[in-house]
Amino acid sequence: ACLTRIAQVDGQVKAFLRLDEKGALAAAEASDARRKAGNPASALDGVPIGLKDIFLTEGGETTCGSRILQGFVPPYDATVVRLLREAGLPIVGKLNMDEFAMGSSTEGSAFGPTHNPWDLERTPGGSSGGSAAAVAACEVFGALGTDTGGSIRQPAALTNTVGLKPTYGRVSRYGVIAYASSLDQVGPMARTVADTAALLQLLARHDPLDSTSAKLEAPDYREDLEGGVRGLRLGVPREYFTGGMDPEVEQAVREALKAYEHMGATLVDVSLPHTKYALATYYLLATAEASSNLARYDGIRFGLRAKDAKGLRELYGLTRERGFGPEVKRRIMLGTYALSAGYYDAYYLRAQKVRTLIRQDFASAFEQVDALVSPTSPVPAFKLGEKVADPLSMYLMDVFTLPCNLAGLPGLSLPCGFTKSNLPIGLQILGKPFDEARLLRIARAFE
Ligand code: GLN
Repeated sequence: ACLTRIAQVDGQVKAFLRLDEKGALAAAEASDARRKAGNPASALDGVPIGLKDIFLTEGGETTCGSRILQGFVPPYDATVVRLLREAGLPIVGKLNMDEFAMGSSTEGSAFGPTHNPWDLERTPGGSSGGSAAAVAACEVFGALGTDTGGSIRQPAALTNTVGLKPTYGRVSRYGVIAYASSLDQVGPMARTVADTAALLQLLARHDPLDSTSAKLEAPDYREDLEGGVRGLRLGVPREYFTGGMDPEVEQAVREALKAYEHMGATLVDVSLPHTKYALATYYLLATAEASSNLARYDGIRFGLRAKDAKGLRELYGLTRERGFGPEVKRRIMLGTYALSAGYYDAYYLRAQKVRTLIRQDFASAFEQVDALVSPTSPVPAFKLGEKVADPLSMYLMDVFTLPCNLAGLPGLSLPCGFTKSNLPIGLQILGKPFDEARLLRIARAFE
């Protein structure tokens, strides 16, 4: 049924970069046999899903939305891919994304943008826009994305789906192509909170192959899902309700807050005073880490190689010139500059200190409240092409999502209604470290 649906709609949505029909059907048949024998591999055995093309898949091309990785076929699966295969989920294919996960619209993909199923002229958000669009268009039941500064939550908000960025360290990054290693985190996207919880259950475990993976048992994420919000204290961060926000987004979020109050939660006004520095801090640290991570694409080890180059230096240069798109080049230059001798203290080190202040803001807020509630994105889905010429306006799409990555906290986006022109609006819930179960419960109460 998923393959039929994809054949019907993906010509317009363009969520998939590659399908693996044979592999998916074989996995589905194996799952059928297990289910008939009364021996399913997991609660989601047989449920078809898609993967952002940032996850290594053994024997299957993985490009990360970049020309430089075209033709790269990984020799192993990412840990999360292995976990899903072992749990019996057929992997239908690889999904479109902004090149190296840098962007908020999928327009950064070297292979063309994905279209928002709610309005094909608009972006599904990004960078996990292919994942969000495939889930929203019912091409798959769930998908994996990654979130460095909002790339799971913002596309979820723009497509009326649920997306969860777990606590840094909750899900393994082994075999996930690195963008900014201290911020990257893998997470599930689905159409309901329960589906999101079920997917997280399969992913949240310690992985000795990722040195930042937490040695912490995961709770049962579905056990308390229907527990409601009575008695919970929900913080409303003042700094997340200021200028530049679409009035319809603000209204929908304010109504959601009222609904939580009706359900028995207490709303608490809180302040995260360093929020105004988060965007600058993020774009310094993320580009610095990216410039270092992307140094490995040299034409020797992976994907594209400029075969006409004379000598090694020219081979490096030509491969990178042809292989990287403009946004990736911009960020490599920014990041290299921030890390260069003489500027390191002024930029990179300073940004690390501000990151600590942002983390402390959250820690003191969480002394008063159980979770924070805010809009996910300041605006609903924008038109494709509208922001490509102005990178700064694209960076501004992340103001509400990226502080959470700087602090390593879990964050979730869930559907919160529609604008008058029928565009989805997302509600963001942020929590304490490893408090994903409570976030899911809060989200489920509103759903
Ligand atoms: N839009 C942000 C960026 O371009 C976030 C991307 C992400 O979370 N991967 O860096």
